[in-house]
Amino acid sequence: MKNGVFTLATECGQHISSKSVVVASGARYRRPAIHNLDEFEGSGVWYWASPIEGRLCANQEIILVGGGNSAGQAAVFLSGHASKVRMMVRSESLADSMSRYLIDRLEATPNIELMFCTEIVGLEGAEAGLERVRWRNRKTVEETSGDIRNVFLFVGADPATKWLSDCGVVLDRTGFVMTGAQTGQNRGVPQLETSVPGVFAVGDVRSGSVKRVGGAIGEGAQVVAALHGFLGDKASPHA
Ligand SMILES: Cc1cc2nc3c(=O)[nH]c(=O)nc-3n(C[C@H](O)[C@H](O)[C@H](O)COP(=O)(O)OP(=O)(O)OC[C@H]3O[C@@H](n4cnc5c(N)ncnc54)[C@H](O)[C@@H]3O)c2cc1C
Repeated sequence: MKNGVFTLATECGQHISSKSVVVASGARYRRPAIHNLDEFEGSGVWYWASPIEGRLCANQEIILVGGGNSAGQAAVFLSGHASKVRMMVRSESLADSMSRYLIDRLEATPNIELMFCTEIVGLEGAEAGLERVRWRNRKTVEETSGDIRNVFLFVGADPATKWLSDCGVVLDRTGFVMTGAQTGQNRGVPQLETSVPGVFAVGDVRSGSVKRVGGAIGEGAQVVAALHGFLGDKASPHA
């Protein structure tokens, strides 16, 4: 940044100068190393649990992979639809990765089975979708399989923020962009603005965002007003 103007290099080698930047580079959802995972994405393997997915697994046994708060919330939600939720966690406990209230809730829900030290090792199915899943206990190496048509993966996401290194934009400990009050600055940072004045962030890349299409669209619309506000202030003779 020089004299309040940012210069960005595009992938095709051009340089763009602007008084303001909106970071909307999203996040990459982590995928367990299962060789044919992509065959079943959208036909039995899901990365989200909305009422639509809830209806898909009505009265079925399902698997949910993950040990964080989002996994816990999804397991509780899906247990209201599925006959049984097998919640598979690679570690030996949830204590380090999930809030206590959620752990208590999972333990108190009769149709959620917590399966520690467990990972999926195989997916089988046909064109219509997933039919069978094989999993392994990492301690005993014992393998088991079951007729499962829906698997939910909640194993986290990596923000696309490497390109922001060294430009002063403050990231949280997992690399997502902090905005508004999260930045800890006392200049009253607007909700979608980052620690660098004139640099805004929206959607999945933003720390604490809801990670949903609707959220990203809403923030995209909201940031337009914020940009007008910022650029209007810059144009003001008192700025
Ligand atoms: C498999 C899957 C299923 C999902 N299902 C649902 C669902 O059912 N319902 C729901 O609400 N949400 C769902 N989501 C989440 C939803 O897709 C995201 O919340 C939404 O797309 C976020 O929008 P975004 O614009 O922030 O990021 P993205 O849609 O990820 O867009 C970011 C863009 O920035 C580009 N980019 C990254 N780095 C750079 C760079 N350095 N320079 C230029 N461009 C860059 C990327 O290539 C990408 O095109 C799903 C996500 C996945 C992965």
